[in-house]
Amino acid sequence: MITEHIETDILCVGGGIAGLMAAISAAQSGLKVVVAEKGNTVHSGSAGMGNDHFACYIPEVHGPDVMPLIQEWSQGQWGGALRNTEKLVAWFKKTAEIVPLWNAWGIPMKYEGKYEFSGHAFPGQKHMVHLKYGGEVQKAVLAREARRRGAKIIERLMIFELLGGERVCGALGVHTRQDKLIHIGARCVILGTGQAERLYPPATPGWLGNHNRPATSSSGDGRAIAYRLGAELVNMEAFGRHAGTKYFVRSGQGTWNGVLRDPQDKPLGPFLTRPDRRYSDMITEINKNIFAEYAAAGKGPVYMDLRGISDEDLAYFEHWMRQEGNVALLNHLAEEGVDLRKNPVEFMTYGLRARGCVASTVKAETSIKGLYAAGDESPSGEGISGAAAFGWIAGENAVQYVTRNRAPDGAGDVQATIEENKSMLDAIRRRDDGPDWREAQVALNQVMIDYAGVVRSEPMLQAGLAHLRRLKKKTVDTVVARNPHELTRVLEVFNLLDLGVLTFIAASERKETRGMHRRADYSYTNPMLDRQILVKRVNGEPVTEWRDW
Ligand SMILES: Cc1cc2nc3c(=O)[nH]c(=O)nc-3n(C[C@H](O)[C@H](O)[C@H](O)COP(=O)(O)OP(=O)(O)OC[C@H]3O[C@@H](n4cnc5c(N)ncnc54)[C@H](O)[C@@H]3O)c2cc1C
Repeated sequence: MITEHIETDILCVGGGIAGLMAAISAAQSGLKVVVAEKGNTVHSGSAGMGNDHFACYIPEVHGPDVMPLIQEWSQGQWGGALRNTEKLVAWFKKTAEIVPLWNAWGIPMKYEGKYEFSGHAFPGQKHMVHLKYGGEVQKAVLAREARRRGAKIIERLMIFELLGGERVCGALGVHTRQDKLIHIGARCVILGTGQAERLYPPATPGWLGNHNRPATSSSGDGRAIAYRLGAELVNMEAFGRHAGTKYFVRSGQGTWNGVLRDPQDKPLGPFLTRPDRRYSDMITEINKNIFAEYAAAGKGPVYMDLRGISDEDLAYFEHWMRQEGNVALLNHLAEEGVDLRKNPVEFMTYGLRARGCVASTVKAETSIKGLYAAGDESPSGEGISGAAAFGWIAGENAVQYVTRNRAPDGAGDVQATIEENKSMLDAIRRRDDGPDWREAQVALNQVMIDYAGVVRSEPMLQAGLAHLRRLKKKTVDTVVARNPHELTRVLEVFNLLDLGVLTFIAASERKETRGMHRRADYSYTNPMLDRQILVKRVNGEPVTEWRDW
């Protein structure tokens, strides 16, 4: 394994929306900024193929006060960390700056010359929040803007460990195509690695990558490396679910503008009775489990029904599906001769999506000095606009941090950590026999869904935790990586195994039922526990702490 060394002021881990926005805002200060991206920034991450809804506040549309919009947006949302009004205000106010910026850079934020809001909305909703925008080009535009301001983007570099002690001082990465260990010395690190969806099995367990987020931004790398350095994680016991076309797992549910119906053609909810391009059928937002519930009760299949849609509205729908990165789905429907004017499409509830992330403040600071988190990695904001807003905020605050803290202090023994990790990587690459990452990934998913799935209880959680710890040790001791690509997959699974352990610990700690965290042994929601669980590593072991929202 060859070792390379790079020095920078600010390192952005992940070249998704959060990482690139952080890089753009930080690089305009003139400081040195490096973006390390596991894939290629032009098409990587959840936003890599496009998005079409940008939740935002535009004063000229919504009026001078942001609060009515926030109140309306909050209706029906899973509370979680987003109950924090300070963060909601910071998020939406920042979107008012970002919308015109993106438009000026070449991401179309207007449709036919004006701001167009539709989808993710109840009929008659006063403050429409979701702006339709042309996200197909967004990643190429943001990567270009980052480079224009002097940020250096390193593609195909997976960061797998952070360096430092009470403050961060860099990171270690592996090249995903070459046997190369890269040490990046940095005075500040911004994490933006996306989701941790691969903790639980996909909706089609035989098809490993079939999640509604791409595989590379679904292994929770940022959370795991932050935890190992000592940062606090939050909401590790929580999970959410998404819904969409059956088996062809895809995000984009708010772009579908038809009615969800049962086999007798009866609408599932009270919101829509015929397709309406201004809204989407909000019954699925209120209860993403509804398709699973219908299936369990033998009341399915459930269909997304666009019958009766006008040709103009169908063209509108297809336009936004393309912006949303759903070209493959449109192509598939065309290849199979599915005409949405005649054929309803079956929908399903997808697998469990871990909600735990890196605890961070309204300034995107984590509990480690110099370490910031934004986007899906953090509990602030949501979706594309949350990533854009808090990525930007992280970049701004990182600049201030680096400017204030020029002299290193308390950074820990970096050289020893580098040597230790190099030996670990060499050992994995030298093995020529053993299980590969897929076996570990499948075993992890099996334990997670069976022991910390939709219904949980103390004996099951304790048994699952023991299985997972055994699995982790066995994986570390025996897994093989036949090439650099497999090595990155192995490192991802190591991260997921760490996060799995923390999920069990937090789920055991929350002795109540709350949202989708259902405890068979505590079937009620306990108002005394209306607080968050933080987990961090102390002397090598996970320690939990309760804290107010
Ligand atoms: C098809 C689809 C449609 C969607 N539509 C919408 C929408 O219309 N509106 C909306 O609000 N949201 C939408 N979302 C969600 C939205 O895309 C995400 O919330 C958003 O992209 C999160 O941004 P992020 O920067 O946090 O993560 P991502 O955009 O996922 O970026 C994470 C990046 O980090 C990289 N990375 C991961 N680990 C490492 C590592 N160890 N080292 C280096 N790099 C790493 C990944 O390769 C990736 O490029 C959609 C998602 C999908 C999949």
